[in-house]
Amino acid sequence: MKQTLVLKVNPSKPSIKKIQVAAGIIRKGGLVAFPTETVYGLGADALNPDAVLALFKAKNRPLDNPPIVHIENINTVYELTEYVPPKAVLLMKQFWPGPLTLIFHRSKRVPDVTVAGLETVAIRMPQHAVALALIRASGCAIAAPSANLAGKPSPTSAKHVLADLDGRIDMVLDGGSTRIGVESTVLDLSLDPPIVLRPGGTPVEALRKVLGDVQLHPFVVAEKEVLVEKARSPGMRYRHYAPNAKVILVEGQLQAVIAKIKELIGSYRREGVKVGVLATDETIANYEADVVKSLGSRFNLTAIAQNLFRLLREFDYEGVDVVIAEGVPIEGLGLAVMNRLRKASGYNILKVV
Ligand code: AMP
Ligand code: MG
Repeated sequence: MKQTLVLKVNPSKPSIKKIQVAAGIIRKGGLVAFPTETVYGLGADALNPDAVLALFKAKNRPLDNPPIVHIENINTVYELTEYVPPKAVLLMKQFWPGPLTLIFHRSKRVPDVTVAGLETVAIRMPQHAVALALIRASGCAIAAPSANLAGKPSPTSAKHVLADLDGRIDMVLDGGSTRIGVESTVLDLSLDPPIVLRPGGTPVEALRKVLGDVQLHPFVVAEKEVLVEKARSPGMRYRHYAPNAKVILVEGQLQAVIAKIKELIGSYRREGVKVGVLATDETIANYEADVVKSLGSRFNLTAIAQNLFRLLREFDYEGVDVVIAEGVPIEGLGLAVMNRLRKASGYNILKVV
């Protein structure tokens, strides 16, 4: 067990002193959790193999699932990669800093452990004053997966980070709740058309406006377990985002979804199971269960994305046995939300019409 230092920072104007403390830890090979605009990341010096190995261990993360490398200056991309395609230049200009991760051919300077032995490296520039200040003060690119134990919902506050990692990491910079709430979109430009490996904070519709055709990897929209080739999409094989409770996702026409969920609540409660329902503002009044929570309005998928991981964790704090969740529209951030919900359910999906 380590002592995990927690420092509160102003999310838009962090104190240089506190950032310097965190940067000192990174430079010495330590682990610092910090807010980004998507979720909290757990950072280590990306070019220090021992630090990155410690990062995998702290999270219990399988070694074949590489983290994203975070930078604060576009020039760093040229140091970490062999080749920067013209489409990447276009996207970096348009979307960075922001929730878009690009896959590049890596330079030999990047240690094997940082890329899990792949020939590619995932890079992004976060849009958060704390993250950018930390990278700048550390003087190195920072490898940062989400700051949760592998398999758990990603953390959107320092409290979530501590629930999973207190005593396992050196420090948390507490900059309050994160704005977007789901992770970055991961885009592979090595194929034509480019392919989204993970839907996230940058909507696919926005990428299509700039690039024209953009495909979705079959896994992005999968409704059941899909076999994926190792090299292209390492993280996709793992169950993810899952609370301790069993999750059931009900998708389809809204009135049918409501009816199905009411029926499920009834049968679970007759068995004495403690039931949680993940509803929306428009539907919440229909349900009577042990714990009922709303993700937000079905017309505000941005708010739904922001609330998703926090609510999944709250069901665990309330000790429910099963969470029954409503599907939301698959557009804009809804694609990322549904991808996370389907994975959280372990593809325990009921389709109704
Ligand atoms: P996390 O760091 O927990 O947000 O997860 C990082 C995501 O980026 C995982 O889904 C990884 O599989 C993905 N990723 C990281 N590096 C690569 C890469 N070189 N090629 C494809 N996907 C990657
Ligand atoms: Mg993660």
